[in-house]
Amino acid sequence: MKEDIQDLALFGGAPAFAEPLHVGRPNIGNRERLLQRIEDMLERKWLTNNGPYVREFERRIADLVGARHCIAMCNATVALEIAIRAAGLTGEVIVPAFTFIATAHALQWQEITPVFCDIDPQTHTIDPCRVEQMITPRTTGIIGVHLWGRACDIETLEQIARRRNLALLFDAAHAFGCSYKGRMIGSFGDAEVFSFHATKFLNTFEGGAVVTNNDELAAKMRLMKNFGFAGQDKVIYIGTNGKMSEASAAMGLTGLECLEEFISINYRNYKQYQQELKGLPGIYCMTYDEQEPCNYQYIVLEVEEAEAGIDRDTLLQVLRAENILARRYFFPGCHRMEPYRSYFPHAGLMLPETERLVPRVLLLPTGTSIGPAEISAICAIIRSGLRFRREIRNRVQKRPN
Ligand SMILES: *Cc1c(COP(=O)(O)O)cnc(C)c1O
Repeated sequence: MKEDIQDLALFGGAPAFAEPLHVGRPNIGNRERLLQRIEDMLERKWLTNNGPYVREFERRIADLVGARHCIAMCNATVALEIAIRAAGLTGEVIVPAFTFIATAHALQWQEITPVFCDIDPQTHTIDPCRVEQMITPRTTGIIGVHLWGRACDIETLEQIARRRNLALLFDAAHAFGCSYKGRMIGSFGDAEVFSFHATKFLNTFEGGAVVTNNDELAAKMRLMKNFGFAGQDKVIYIGTNGKMSEASAAMGLTGLECLEEFISINYRNYKQYQQELKGLPGIYCMTYDEQEPCNYQYIVLEVEEAEAGIDRDTLLQVLRAENILARRYFFPGCHRMEPYRSYFPHAGLMLPETERLVPRVLLLPTGTSIGPAEISAICAIIRSGLRFRREIRNRVQKRPN
């Protein structure tokens, strides 16, 4: 434990960890099972194009989330692009500014304008009260993001979408294994999109999927992810190559067998962080509603400088010096990244809650590669960071960068 200021790496002590601790290290299932599947795949010589693993993976996901259709894809960004195109979105689509840039890019990539909407500061998800103010005659849809695996206010968004005749999609990249009012995320709105990227709760190395109850939309997306082919020599849509490979599906199936284990480790980590950071002034550890199934994949702090006496970025430096590679997520907000920053230089004026949150959020390492000893050390360093805030502030100010 770091009791004295000299013990902190920022003041010359050895880093708490010789090897860096990352946010978003992959959850990996049983290796033998994975390697066996890869062997079988090689024997079969069926590596992609709707192979048996992809079909099995799609069935499992659809069953798990209670959706009629699951279409596995190469990643969630392409899955979003396909869902957006298949749902017929054009013109403007309302999205939160506090999300991963892919949510906005999936629209702009097909020349649809993302209109950035503010979030509810309690939930970090799109604020339905603000959505209606953003609707114009050009608006064709809304994309909600179930950030950190916590569902948006789905009911209110569904009401708005129905009343204003808008499509409603959900970027559920964080929310595989999570629920809303007791029903699994995956069958809300017109379609929902999961990511199975390596950093996500369940991974297929790279991967994603669209899930939907809409038969027509599902059929269309199935063709679109395969170049629009409707038969061997027949193309009926603009399509792309959105296919998931068999190796990816093998990884996904292997991960699915270990979901309970991933959740219980994430939950244990979450409870420990809650316990050890409880009562620290200005350090708020985001909570999950434990009544809902959840993947507990993200440990999200909000650092309130006025109370903590240290700002988020300084605390980040303290942790990084110890080889704890905490992360600022969605910083500085989609509206402050190109091309949106140039297109809408004043977007921030409409996004007061996003602007307030973006400099406060800090993600801490969790997942199956982190255990209780590491979490104790991380929390102790955060406590030291607060205790020695004045010295740290002086030190950090004096540093050239
Ligand atoms: C990870 C992520 C994506 C993109 O997923 P990929 O599978 O990496 O393309 C989209 N939206 C959100 C909110 C994400 O976190």
